Amino acid sequence: MSRFVVAWALAIGLAAVSSSASAQDSAKAQLQAMAPVTPAAVDAAANQHELKPEPKAPDAAPQATPDQPKKAEPEKAALACAHPGALGTSRTITVPTDAFPRIGTMQYHQSLPLNDHEVVITFDDGPLPPYTDRVLEALDAECVKVTYFIVGQMARAYPDTLRRIYNAGHVIGTHSMHHPFSMDRMDAAQLTSEIDGGIAAVKAAIGDDRAVAPFFRVPGLARSRTLEAFAASQSLAVWSADEVADDWFHGIKPAQIVERAMRRIEAKGHRGVLLLHDIHPATAMAVPMLLQELKAKGYKIVQAIPAGERPASVPERTPEEIAAARSQGWPRVAKASPKSHHVRRHVHAAAETDDSFLGKLAAKKKHAVAAAYEVNQLFNR
Ligand SMILES: [Zn+2]
Repeated sequence: MSRFVVAWALAIGLAAVSSSASAQDSAKAQLQAMAPVTPAAVDAAANQHELKPEPKAPDAAPQATPDQPKKAEPEKAALACAHPGALGTSRTITVPTDAFPRIGTMQYHQSLPLNDHEVVITFDDGPLPPYTDRVLEALDAECVKVTYFIVGQMARAYPDTLRRIYNAGHVIGTHSMHHPFSMDRMDAAQLTSEIDGGIAAVKAAIGDDRAVAPFFRVPGLARSRTLEAFAASQSLAVWSADEVADDWFHGIKPAQIVERAMRRIEAKGHRGVLLLHDIHPATAMAVPMLLQELKAKGYKIVQAIPAGERPASVPERTPEEIAAARSQGWPRVAKASPKSHHVRRHVHAAAETDDSFLGKLAAKKKHAVAAAYEVNQLFNR
């Protein structure tokens, strides 16, 4: 593994623990002081900003025939917007895994077929309250729909937040079970455990297998041919990215995240798949600014969705149900399908606390600070 990949992997390992305690507290206080987004009257305004769906892609999955009632219609849900003047989501783009096995010019020749001034936004590593919640509110305020790459262990720890993400109209892909930084060195058995384990955990947490897209992003972007062959055998698309914004860097300011994202999007032909992390306070503060900046510069948001049908929504628990479940202790994972052996295994394993995961990430912090500098130098050349 090259020095760069090591640096990269460690830098992303900064993850949930990058800020010092005081900076974290301060950022958290600011975020909690932000006014929550009030759901607007949907019926009156929903049609004002409804845009045309994209022309059907040649490789898209077959649609329901005219005499069959259509079931889930994620495209319409993604495109309706109740907030006048919002950035909105201009179209969806269907991403069949056979036509798009590997995505993102940071590592591959192919990316999504975006037009001038079109951006696909993606978030990795979550969910993690309260930052994930702040990001969701910012996206909702602008009717922006995105794609998440969820860590299995985080889904297990925060299943209700995961369901909230899905029900807000976003797409759920996966990002391994434990976010290891060594997937480029794993054999098939280890890859199966991490990739399939992550998918099973996310499916169990979300409560509906069909709600999880066959989209996978490698932690630290530590790809390998073995991994890509394994993903292809599982009909999983491997997502890299076209741009990053260094939002996992220790001490990075929200304005810097916005500036780097915009500069790199503009440098790559005014388009691209942008990678962010919804687990960081700086990212949560940057997202509203980034969306304003994209709007001001005439960008449009495109949402990448999987081929085939997916449920319009998944069951969410009420705050009372969540509180009751917590008072009974673990597991916190909500009701799972009894059909899958993997699901049962992971629900059983949900008795672990998420503290151990965050603790492991914390252990990498001292390496990550130095490593982040190297990545910074590379990208700013
Ligand atoms: Zn990650």
